[in-house]
Amino acid sequence: MGLTIKIETLNDSDQAPVQEGVEDGSNAQDVAPTEEEICDDVVLLWKEEPGTEDATIQHLYDRIRERNSTWKLSASRFRNILNQHHLYDTDLETVSLYKEDIHFPKAVDSNAKVKVEFIDDEHGRGLFAEKDFTKGQIILKENKPIVFVPPLDKLFFISNGKACARCGKALYDLTQQKIMVHYLDCEVCKAIWCSDKCKKAHAPLHELLYHSWRSNRIDILHAGNWKRFVNYCEKYCFTAAFSIGLIYGSMLLDSTGEVKEQWDVLASVSQRVRIKLRDASGIGSTFNLMNGTIAHTEDGSDNGAKKDDDENADDEIVWEKCYELFCGAFPKASEEIDLEQFLTMIGTFNINQYNGQIYHWHSFMNHDCEPNAYIEQAEEHEELKLHARKPIKKGEQVCVTYVNPLHGVRLRRRELRVNWGFLCQCDRCRNELSTFERVPNSDKESVTTNLAKVDSDDTSDDTPGRSTDNRKSSMREAQPDLKEILKNGKEFELDIPETVDTQGNVRKTSVRFDSNVFVAVDER
Ligand SMILES: [Zn+2]
Ligand SMILES: [Zn+2]
Ligand SMILES: [Zn+2]
Repeated sequence: MGLTIKIETLNDSDQAPVQEGVEDGSNAQDVAPTEEEICDDVVLLWKEEPGTEDATIQHLYDRIRERNSTWKLSASRFRNILNQHHLYDTDLETVSLYKEDIHFPKAVDSNAKVKVEFIDDEHGRGLFAEKDFTKGQIILKENKPIVFVPPLDKLFFISNGKACARCGKALYDLTQQKIMVHYLDCEVCKAIWCSDKCKKAHAPLHELLYHSWRSNRIDILHAGNWKRFVNYCEKYCFTAAFSIGLIYGSMLLDSTGEVKEQWDVLASVSQRVRIKLRDASGIGSTFNLMNGTIAHTEDGSDNGAKKDDDENADDEIVWEKCYELFCGAFPKASEEIDLEQFLTMIGTFNINQYNGQIYHWHSFMNHDCEPNAYIEQAEEHEELKLHARKPIKKGEQVCVTYVNPLHGVRLRRRELRVNWGFLCQCDRCRNELSTFERVPNSDKESVTTNLAKVDSDDTSDDTPGRSTDNRKSSMREAQPDLKEILKNGKEFELDIPETVDTQGNVRKTSVRFDSNVFVAVDER
């Protein structure tokens, strides 16, 4: 059976729409959506139907109304909000970025195949080929991340001995038959490792984090407080903080100093800076919610309405509490790390992580929407292989894509801007943008709602239809058709981690930093 396309939302924050006073005597059930909800739904529509990115604003408006029949939303408000949030403007000079706030330590490193070089202050470092590579050839392998971080959602199973304490691999197979493990369990607690390799690599850290009293390490870690910290991270899905805890703990244990060395050369930025570009918090959001901002709180205090006062209020509370618990777990941390440094660690983790892990060589790689390399990650999310997607000459920079290359140019650039703070200027983006703005001469008069006009056009009686069709045909060459690509599978060699869901379907997620992913489900 072939692949079918589904949209899955990995973190779903159900924000209640804000009820506004009845302005125009319309149906009392109608609600005025918040700006975030509008943006979320537009982005979600783009993700579900990639062709809609080149639709006229009127067409978008109609679709959004169709999808949300109870929304009270005028065409002009819709246009203003999209412009304000840079979802539909062409003036990209004015958008905010944070690339200047990213600090790039001047690292040099090399092996026989690649080397790290400093490019300039704007681009930071890059990874360059030290030899020629043919298409498909493995450029390099990274055996393990600098510190392995198990998925936060596996912690429950880990603490009950049902998943490997290091890698989170389930210790039950799909038929619920328990796999026997000998000598791979912890003497003290329920923790079990999946292999000798995992046990060897992780037992000292486990001992420190959970049984520090046994080895007299309570001066560097308080096990009870570590649990409190982890519970808090779990409660708020704060993956980045949990990861920082594991990385910091590993640094304290690592007598070789290697972990700290690898951490110190990462490009760094504060989460406080990143979060300013958070565009929304709902299902269409392009900001990576799982890694350092609050999707929703359990007591429902984050209801959109109070956000106008202080956009980041909830985040600030969680950050401070999390930092306090971190310092409780690591008694000496407060002497070394203050809240701002903690937030820089969070931001640094977020801009460097790949599927929740940080890899040394990978962290130096720059983005290209049409990259010459792609990543293959083993199922256990441990080993990472970098392959040439095109022939690469010695001296050429090796790039990967940070975002789903199947997304259209607007969405890709938005994802990059929000999550990494830069505006992509790659060849593919330029080409696709120029196609956007180019309207065939003969059609110019009939096109009343092209993108360039959106800013100045403040009436809402646009005529969609024709212009949309013209656009569609001209865009077709530039924008890959998702269905086509999935059908022949090879057009884009994506870095696709495979996971198996409870039905035993192999799911291919094809997004890196996104809470909402296109998944091709192989229904066998
Ligand atoms: Zn394992
Ligand atoms: Zn134990
Ligand atoms: Zn690009």
